Amino acid sequence: MNAFARVVREAVKYFLKNGYESQEQLIRWQELIRQAATGETADDYQSMVTTRLTQAYDRQVNRGLMLKRHVGVPVFTIHHLQPKMRAELDRRILASVDLIKLNREKAVTTTLSRFSGWASSIPPADTIALRGVQGTMLKTAQHIQKSALQMDYEARRVMIDQGHKLIANIDNVVATNNNAIAARWHSHWRRPGYDYRKDHKERDELVYMIRGNWAQEKGYIKPGSAGYLDEVTQPGEEVFCSCYVTYIYNLRSVPEDMLTQKGIQFMESVRK
Ligand SMILES: [Zn+2]
Repeated sequence: MNAFARVVREAVKYFLKNGYESQEQLIRWQELIRQAATGETADDYQSMVTTRLTQAYDRQVNRGLMLKRHVGVPVFTIHHLQPKMRAELDRRILASVDLIKLNREKAVTTTLSRFSGWASSIPPADTIALRGVQGTMLKTAQHIQKSALQMDYEARRVMIDQGHKLIANIDNVVATNNNAIAARWHSHWRRPGYDYRKDHKERDELVYMIRGNWAQEKGYIKPGSAGYLDEVTQPGEEVFCSCYVTYIYNLRSVPEDMLTQKGIQFMESVRK
């Protein structure tokens, strides 16, 4: 639990016990809550996000997990592209810190206004029991604490989402620099509990052509039934999309319906 959520919990406990005594008392608690919120600095988030995304980067790039999505691309090419991929990592870290900060400010404001409204509506302690309002008071208190805890949850969600976006972007760097010609979509819709988008499930296993690729310019391939990759949202582009694509770099791996007559002839001539 973060310091902010902890102080909110203490404040709620205090008011449940003592009731609303005075405006001064409320202002004092509001001040404590605000202090706890600003006590956690952006630096804390910066280091958390940096660690998390750098780990994902290491797994993908340095330990070569990403090679699975780029069959046929040699390892040295990937090393060669490190500066460009590093830039993607830095960009993602900055974007994540910004997002987390924004969400946080929102959570603090919401919590404070909920808390203030709630605390000032509580009767004095000696009448709480008489009026039989403990039940509803507790319920509201839980609601307030939830918005304080939401902050950590949101921060985790942002990091997971930005992790997917990072992977999609470094994949894109490799695909662009190695002249990928098509991409096969993969959705995690089979994964239990994964809240997949219906239209992304339908994209699963479809092969999209990359517009203007060398094989198209030579007249060897044409878009298949799925069309071009730039006609759909990119993997990881929509919020919490964890779809990914594997890239295709040679004619042999392209589905037959995407090959033109010229492409088929070319392949046959190569085989001979
Ligand atoms: Zn998706």
